[in-house]
Amino acid sequence: MKEESMATRRKVIQRMLEGAVFMGGGGLLWGKSVNASTKADYVLRPPGALKEKQFLKACIKCGQCVEACPYDTLKLAEPGDGIANGTPFFEPRTIPCYLCTDMPCTDSCPSGALDLKALTKEDEKADILNSRMGLAVIHKESCLAYWGIRCEACYRACPLVDKAITLDYEVNERTGKHAKLLPIVHSDVCTGCGVCEQACVAEKAAIFVLPLDKSTGEVGDHYIKSWEKKDEQRINEDVEKADDDKDVKSAIDYLNDDDLIDD
Ligand code: SF4
Ligand code: SF4
Ligand code: SF4
Repeated sequence: MKEESMATRRKVIQRMLEGAVFMGGGGLLWGKSVNASTKADYVLRPPGALKEKQFLKACIKCGQCVEACPYDTLKLAEPGDGIANGTPFFEPRTIPCYLCTDMPCTDSCPSGALDLKALTKEDEKADILNSRMGLAVIHKESCLAYWGIRCEACYRACPLVDKAITLDYEVNERTGKHAKLLPIVHSDVCTGCGVCEQACVAEKAAIFVLPLDKSTGEVGDHYIKSWEKKDEQRINEDVEKADDDKDVKSAIDYLNDDDLIDD
């Protein structure tokens, strides 16, 4: 009964919104295109896909990757899907990517829109575990484990268990005597395959894959991790640059002046 009234409420709100947009004259199209662009922004592409803009230019919509997928994971977008027509995508909650070691989808792409090189690190061979289709994120408020209920469904389903997802132990302060086993996703390992999303027991998955540009931040080049070799090199480069620029060098010298440093 409660669910029914919720559904009715949703329908009423949807109709009101459609009506409002329709009354705007020509707004109906606008409403649909906002909906479409939102979905397109969150689309997940097959392993080895180029960055979205380049992917859209390169994909010739031949469907060979879809044909090659043995799990029917991939679909070609159709009108109304809200995704560039004819391009391949997947929805992990329905069918995730099972990370085939022979990468048939990527391998079959004739246009380079899916590129084995994107699955290659340094001089090694292409490896499906290098794919970054997206990143799994956890909505803690709807994750049973964060409530203190034993679950672990996503953790156990993950093909990279104990690497892409680990469990953190925490005392359950509510009961004072139980442990919470909290799933944590590791962004440096997670492939974005979505097996966890499909396995989640919540009605709407509490762990779900988002495209990288929607799930990751960016600090900016001006922050340097002095404790990392690569970044240390950047400091040296900046100091060398400063040597060539007297004003900048004197500013650095001034900031490093003993008088400015507390005892
Ligand atoms: S890796 Fe395998 S399961 Fe995943 S999309 Fe490609 S063919 Fe399908
Ligand atoms: S095989 Fe490549 S070009 Fe063909 S639909 Fe798939 S991604 Fe696009
Ligand atoms: S998407 Fe989920 S199942 Fe796949 S590697 Fe990442 S954490 Fe594991």
